[in-house]
Formats: sequence, C-alpha cells, structure tokens
Amino acid sequence: MTRPESARRAEIAAGLAETRDRIENACRAAGRSDIPTLIVVTKNQPASDIDHLRALGVGDIGENRDQEAAAKVAQIAARHEVTVHFIGQLQTNKAASVAGYADVVHSVDRPRLVRALAAALQRLHRRLDVLIQVDLSGSPGRGGVDPRQADDLAELVVASDFLRLRGVMAVAPLGVDPDAAFARLAGVADGIRRVAPEATWISAGMSGDLEAAVRHGATHLRVGTAILGSRAHRG
Ligand SMILES: *Cc1c(COP(=O)(O)O)cnc(C)c1O
Repeated sequence: MTRPESARRAEIAAGLAETRDRIENACRAAGRSDIPTLIVVTKNQPASDIDHLRALGVGDIGENRDQEAAAKVAQIAARHEVTVHFIGQLQTNKAASVAGYADVVHSVDRPRLVRALAAALQRLHRRLDVLIQVDLSGSPGRGGVDPRQADDLAELVVASDFLRLRGVMAVAPLGVDPDAAFARLAGVADGIRRVAPEATWISAGMSGDLEAAVRHGATHLRVGTAILGSRAHRG
C-alpha cells in the first residue's frame, strides 16, 4: 500500500532542508560565497517524486538509466521547468534516445560516444550541454576517461557544433580519500579550461562526500539517498 503523497512530499522536504544545510555549512567552512547547484538524483524513485521536488523549488534532477529516465521525463508535469541531467554510463546505442530528452549529459567519456551524440543531435536539430566524465579510480570500465586523455576528448567535444562543453564530472572511487580524488579532478578541470575557457562546471560530490567536493570547487552536486532515501526502505 502506498502512503499518501502529502507524507512523501513532507519526507522529501525534510531531506532537502537537511542537505541544503549541509551544503551551506560546507560552503561556509570552505570560505565559499557561491552555493553549488544541487542536482537531486531521482533514479529508482517514482516520477511523482520529481513533481514533489519541483514544487519544493528543485529545478535540476539526475537520472542514470536511459529506459527509466525516458519514461519518467515523459511524465513530469512541469517538464519545461526541470533541467534533466543524465549522469549514468551511456552506451553508444542509447545515445540517440538520451539526446532526445536530456538537457545535460555528465558522462561523456570516449570519442565514439561524442560522435554518436553529435550525429543524433544533428538529426534532432538540438544542442546539448555535456561534461567529460573523468575516471579517478585508475581501473577503466566503470566509466570515465583516463585523466591523461581528458584534454584530447575535450577538444573533440569543442569541435562539434551540436555539443557544448560545460566542464567535468567524476565519482570518487570507493576506498579512496574523496579529498584526494576531488583535488585531482580540480586539476583536470584546470587543464580542460585551457582548451575551453567556458567549461567551468565541476560535477562532483554525492550523499556521502559532498563536503569534500565543496572544498575542491564543485559547482554541481549530485545527491540522491540523502534526500529521497533508498527505494528499498520505503513502502
Ligand atoms: C546514484 C548516483 C549519485 C547519487 O548518489 P547518492 O549516494 O544516492 O547521493 C550521484 N552520481 C551518480 C553518477 C550516481 O549514479
């Protein structure tokens, strides 16, 4: 039996307030006067949560699987008021689908994907904001470009008329000090800004490590469970 939507909205409001407090405290501690953009990761949660979030003032949501994202985006009541960030590993054969609804793709990590997105966008007469996902784990396969190849990939993105390079994204690897990981990411971001000065976004930090990301200049935080809980724990 599902609980009333009003109870769900109150639960989300509480998680959101707590997370916004954490972000403000982290910014204050880091001596930052700017507040990063909060992207609420709605994966594994119902489309109705996106409407609750919108009503609570959230304009940015993140999804990581094409099939789920496509279905949910089609159901958002105020679609034009929500920026949809695709943050998951993206198979080349899903690029055309994602290019059709995403506003930002955070997970561009290889030349083939750049070409697939650009070709789809040309057909759709659309442009797309993208971030280069950087692998900080040193073990390829879980998504992200080797940091040493990030500049080359950035040049390829910049050369496309249909893609707009906004910056970099990374996930701190498990078992590694997130401060060290995000410091490394900040270095890669510096390098990319030499190729593309307007690529100023750093998408980093999740429920468990957003403070470290704030310390290292994150402009966008991707937070799921701290706000929405884990799907398995809800009725
Ligand atoms: C799920 C996910 C997040 C959010 O993680 P939480 O720990 O739930 O905050 C952020 N980034 C990516 C790429 C994700 O897949």
